[in-house]
Amino acid sequence: MKTSKEYKENLYKMKHNIFINGEKVGRDDPRMAGVIKTISQTFDRVNEPEFKDLLTTTSHITGETINRFTHIHQSTEDLLAKQEMTRRLCRYTSGCVFRCMGIDAMNALSVITHRAEAMTGRPYHQRWLEYLKFWQKNDIEATCAQTDVKGDRSLRPHQQADPDMYLHVVEHREDGIVVRGAKNHITAAGVAEEIIVVPTRFLTPEEDQYAVSFAIPGDWDNVYLVTRASNLRQRDHFPSPSAEAGDVENFIIFDDAFIPNDRVFLGGYEGEHQFGGWLALLFALYHRHSYTGCKPATTDIIMGFSALVSEYNGVEDKKHVQFKLADLISVAELVNAAGIAAAHKATKDDSGTMIPDPVFCNVGRKHAGKNYYHELETLADLAGGLPATLPYEKDFFSEKTGPFLRKYIKRKEDVPAEDVYRLYRTLSDTLCSGIGGVMAVAGVHGGGSPVMEDIAVLKQYNIDERKNIAKYLAGISDE
Ligand SMILES: Cc1cc2nc3c(=O)[nH]c(=O)nc-3n(C[C@H](O)[C@H](O)[C@H](O)COP(=O)(O)OP(=O)(O)OC[C@H]3O[C@@H](n4cnc5c(N)ncnc54)[C@H](O)[C@@H]3O)c2cc1C
Repeated sequence: MKTSKEYKENLYKMKHNIFINGEKVGRDDPRMAGVIKTISQTFDRVNEPEFKDLLTTTSHITGETINRFTHIHQSTEDLLAKQEMTRRLCRYTSGCVFRCMGIDAMNALSVITHRAEAMTGRPYHQRWLEYLKFWQKNDIEATCAQTDVKGDRSLRPHQQADPDMYLHVVEHREDGIVVRGAKNHITAAGVAEEIIVVPTRFLTPEEDQYAVSFAIPGDWDNVYLVTRASNLRQRDHFPSPSAEAGDVENFIIFDDAFIPNDRVFLGGYEGEHQFGGWLALLFALYHRHSYTGCKPATTDIIMGFSALVSEYNGVEDKKHVQFKLADLISVAELVNAAGIAAAHKATKDDSGTMIPDPVFCNVGRKHAGKNYYHELETLADLAGGLPATLPYEKDFFSEKTGPFLRKYIKRKEDVPAEDVYRLYRTLSDTLCSGIGGVMAVAGVHGGGSPVMEDIAVLKQYNIDERKNIAKYLAGISDE
């Protein structure tokens, strides 16, 4: 397994194809350091007692010990371990560990390449297996680029005025394919060693050219990353683990990029549209299962902040505070329970990969997404207005204003003014910062906009059976 030092060395060696605010930069740009530090924990914690059994496992293809972020789930226990690993890690990393996209894409590809190879005769699964060996041996950190820019939302890919609104094949060559298009909102692509591309949506027979999937190093030729990096305001006096968090979102342009055959897992050939659609849905399914790990961690963090600020303010035992904490507990544990149920109701695919139950994954993700702004509202309510108005650190330490601020920021007698400041500074980062805003929108749209979960559930759910119950109870039918 790799160390975080090796991961960073790999990133820093990459060609410069990242653009931030008009500048072409390398992966050592300080604006990306926060996310790199967060992802580094997935390498650095492998030997810690809390994580050893969660972060490492045995490869089903080589028998070697591997990082679980490169594993293909073979059992219910594997799915449960991934969920638990995600929740525990995300508690340390302010709610996101930035490494789930790669593992989710690889699990989806294990199933779809197997099906596509069986049905088309093209060696998609063989190629993917070779890639998996490389992936596991090198403990690859990858992201998944699914979301196309999509143009006019009322039109399908083949109906768009500009066919490039969804990434597609523009040329089939003997030795590979040439692709054109753009993927947007791709988290952590600028700090990923590899980018795995999958289609966005279900495809129709006119849309074979959009059924494309492949993997490339992040600095591949004719691929440009237009990157937005969010970081927290510099702290001079009160360092904290949460203050080091960062976020990197990427708009990725594929400017007629050539992808060699050994990295193509779905080539957009005639008749392949259905595999593209299945792959889109299956990546989303695995990703929504990952959310049943990270979102309970986010709620754990908000719950901790809510309880602590209420304690410092001397109101923790008040009834409305207790009810709000109970509300947070019910969100965290119902979402977690949905992930556990999805693992227990999982099915084993012909490829050998476990597929979590779609209804439980989607209702879990939906419950988390629907509640995220409500959780922030709870925290804002219990914290009062200070997260929004907190004086700057330098004023807290200045000779003239510092003593006044220390005196007047105090709440309970036994809580030092410094601890009150530390907590409110972190609440301010959570509720009032650029990253806080990005994470809130991610809580709604990450893994697909909310209606996508409804559509997925409605497709799987037996509503007719419920109508029959109604007919039986109303005496309309005896069945
Ligand atoms: C912070 C963040 C991180 C993300 N990370 C990743 C990532 O790592 N990889 C990745 O691939 N994606 C990622 N996403 C993308 C995410 O999956 C999308 O934002 C989501 O699928 C919504 O797509 P959109 O942003 O294009 O919005 P739109 O699809 O434009 O949705 C806007 C609204 O229009 C509605 N709408 C859209 N089309 C239709 C239609 N045809 N009929 C009816 N209603 C419609 C939607 O339901 C929604 O209410 C991320 C998003 C965010 C915000």
